[in-house]
Amino acid sequence: MHRSRCTKILATLGPATSSLEAIQQLFEAGADVFRINMSHTSHDDLATLVGLIRKIETDSGRPIGILADLQGPKLRLGDFAKKSIEVSAGDQIVLDLNKKAGSKTRIHVPHPEVLKALEPGHRILVDDGKVELRAVECSPEKTVAEVVNGTALSSRKGISLPDTDLPVGSLTDKDRSDLDAALAAEVDWIAISFVQRPEDVAEVRKIARGQAGVLAKIEKPQALNWLEEIIDLSDAIMVARGDLGVEMPIEKVPGIQKRITRACRRAGKPVVVATQMLESMISAPMPTRAEVSDVGTAVFEGADAIMLSAESAVGDYPFEAVAMMDKIAQQIERDSNYSHIIAAQRIAPDSTGADAIALAARQIAETLNLAAIVCYTASGTTGLRAARERPGMPVIALSPVIRTARKLALVWGLHCVVTEDATDLDDMVDRACRIASKEKFAKPGDRVIITAGVPLRTPGATNMLRIAFVSSDGNSGI
Ligand code: PGA
Ligand code: MN
Repeated sequence: MHRSRCTKILATLGPATSSLEAIQQLFEAGADVFRINMSHTSHDDLATLVGLIRKIETDSGRPIGILADLQGPKLRLGDFAKKSIEVSAGDQIVLDLNKKAGSKTRIHVPHPEVLKALEPGHRILVDDGKVELRAVECSPEKTVAEVVNGTALSSRKGISLPDTDLPVGSLTDKDRSDLDAALAAEVDWIAISFVQRPEDVAEVRKIARGQAGVLAKIEKPQALNWLEEIIDLSDAIMVARGDLGVEMPIEKVPGIQKRITRACRRAGKPVVVATQMLESMISAPMPTRAEVSDVGTAVFEGADAIMLSAESAVGDYPFEAVAMMDKIAQQIERDSNYSHIIAAQRIAPDSTGADAIALAARQIAETLNLAAIVCYTASGTTGLRAARERPGMPVIALSPVIRTARKLALVWGLHCVVTEDATDLDDMVDRACRIASKEKFAKPGDRVIITAGVPLRTPGATNMLRIAFVSSDGNSGI
């Protein structure tokens, strides 16, 4: 089985899709990677979900990626005495550390670091920006704020501080324990929420120690000041448009999405475009035209993956939403403008052997109209650099390491297959041709180009290109 598109689909699991049958159906509809949201998943449920996905993986013979998404420092108001209180523009409210239930004039904020960091003029956005407060007078114990916009406040609503640089890391105690559980469950990717600085990524990297890829969610304006550094330290990036659209003027999000996807493509790091992509499909079997166009834009931009959140986690049409993304991505990738747009953003190779080989493999494959590029990749780097070239033909990534194959399931255009290391050069060529044929990317008489490292079994040394014929037995012809 192989997908008929290069853009990957990331589907969030949730109450609507926690059974083996439901996950199987999402996979069959086109999901390549599953996201488990640690905000709503216990460690036992995490282990169960991972077990179900691994079963589907074994049955299908296709590596599947799993991403555990850490909640991060989601700030919330304390409790109110009444269900909800009315506010109006111009009202003054004191935010303090007193646990007493809140009223119209004062609110408990259970985050001392927030009160310490707020400065006069900073915005305090409550409930996804529905209420906007502005700090007027600040001390470490309390902030006097004025209501700018909004009508009602209630208990435990989320707070966003777009102007405030919080001196805390992005990992809470809950995140640390979720991270340990996710690593123990052997997930392939860890997503970090509300990354502000490169150090936030470095901290998770240190704990993950290469056991899982580290994906930084860009949803804080502060992260944009460090975008290149954060990309550099991360294995992948998510344009987390939900919180980004709260913390930034919403009209800036499309431009930021473009900036981030382009920076990631330059760096050769996978980039996921996320949130509200097919939002209306939470309760309707068909998306809006605007949503289809939004998914189309991400695909035209060459994003590695497009994501479903509530649509697949709690929606009424989770399978239809995945199938719809699959259809849109396939159609856009066949559009006559697609290859031209993708090629126009192609970036020069770094001056490394791996990049020189990736570029040459694509050029040779295009010049000779080859059926596929087959690359041997133990760590995944060679696969990533091949994908960075955004070639016009399928790229088959062969790895002896199942974890590499699972991780690369997130990456544009890579069809990953787990296979042992080749024993010698003949075996390497035969094996590549056999797999290309078996996976239906090449037929007898077609040619493929193979990249590998010689001597064999020395990771990190891709230095060889070989053009080979696929013969009728699926092996190499010459
Ligand atoms: P979330 O992240 O769904 O975990 O909030 C994505 C986003 O903010 O867009
Ligand atoms: Mn978010």
